[in-house]
Amino acid sequence: MDLNHLLDALLPSWTSAAMLLAFFVYLAIVGSLLPGKLVPGVTLSDGTRLHYRCNGLLSLLLFVLLLGVGAWMGLVSPTAIADRGLELLSTTFIFSFLATLALYVVGCKSRDRSSSLKPRVSGNLIHDWWFGIQLNPQFMGIDLKFFFVRAGMMGWLLINLSVLAKCIQEGNLNRSMVLYQLFCALYIIDYFIYEEFMTSTWDIIAERLGFMLVFGDLVWIPFTFSIQGWWLLSNKVELTTAALIANCLSFVIGYRVFRGANKQKHVFKKNPKAPIWGMPPKVVGGKLLASGYWGIARHCNYLGDLLLALSFSLPCGISSLVPYFYPIYLLILLIWRERRDDARCAEKYKEVWEEYCKLVPWRILPYVY
Ligand code: NDP
Repeated sequence: MDLNHLLDALLPSWTSAAMLLAFFVYLAIVGSLLPGKLVPGVTLSDGTRLHYRCNGLLSLLLFVLLLGVGAWMGLVSPTAIADRGLELLSTTFIFSFLATLALYVVGCKSRDRSSSLKPRVSGNLIHDWWFGIQLNPQFMGIDLKFFFVRAGMMGWLLINLSVLAKCIQEGNLNRSMVLYQLFCALYIIDYFIYEEFMTSTWDIIAERLGFMLVFGDLVWIPFTFSIQGWWLLSNKVELTTAALIANCLSFVIGYRVFRGANKQKHVFKKNPKAPIWGMPPKVVGGKLLASGYWGIARHCNYLGDLLLALSFSLPCGISSLVPYFYPIYLLILLIWRERRDDARCAEKYKEVWEEYCKLVPWRILPYVY
């Protein structure tokens, strides 16, 4: 695609804006109507707690079903997203920009003193717009932070499905596309099965809602994590059986480590005596888990996530670095994040953390790092 075509394709449109709006309206309606476990968030500094209705899986499956029926009846085009990829990207970017400006203005005017809504203004407009000024802003009773992250993860799957439809339409479906689609779909569905785990993550409990988070959720996740799918649309890969087996192993091992480690910590925090791999847990200083995955490396969950990211790219072969954007980005992000988390834990747990580090010297990859 030459520069002129690229710029044309990037022009936002009212059709894209309408598609985005329809998606948000759907999510807002089903998010408050469909049944789902009501999960209490962490206790905030003023003693209050938000509650999150975790019905993301049902909302997603219903949406895919409705789109499927709509496509079958000829009401919607299954390739609508893939046909307008760049246009949707720029429209979503503009939406993120405008929405966070509105959040800034509304936040500044807020007189609310609760931990969720109290504006924390530094006086530097760019800083406040980028990082946000309120912890949990709402719109018509909807918690926007939880809403946007849900929209981003679902958006990723919707883009992938549309790319798949385009691939089938062009008669180019091959093993690589099937593997890529399957692994991503399983990962996203798994995310929604365990949606309640999101309610205790750093982004939800500690970050204010500004451009950084909104852009990350709405633009970065769906549009960059799907690069492999777009790449496979215009590049042909012949996977050998050995590569296919290695690819499946990377996904299965990655998934087990990622989900296993996150689950072990989640269970440990709720019940520090719960058995790990069928045995009583090894605990350092009464606070830190040092058995199971947390006895192998201090962030085995990152290792699992990296293997999963690799499994999304391996179906593209090794002829180009472009499809490896996601694992490379994640590697840099998680190494940086591990360092920050290490500093935070050293500060919080002091000598208990030192003892844990002696017992478990590896940060992410045992015997290497
Ligand atoms: P973690 O889930 O690893 O949580 C780190 C926190 O867990 C620490 O701050 C500490 O908090 C607690 N902790 C650390 N070690 C122990 C231990 N041995 N025993 C008990 N508690 C411990 O961090 P993240 O929120 O960064 O990651 C969550 C998941 O999200 C990971 O799987 C990661 O891969 C994934 N992720 C994915 C990204 C993506 O773009 N795909 C981006 C970022 C994360 P406390 O003070 O509560 O004890």
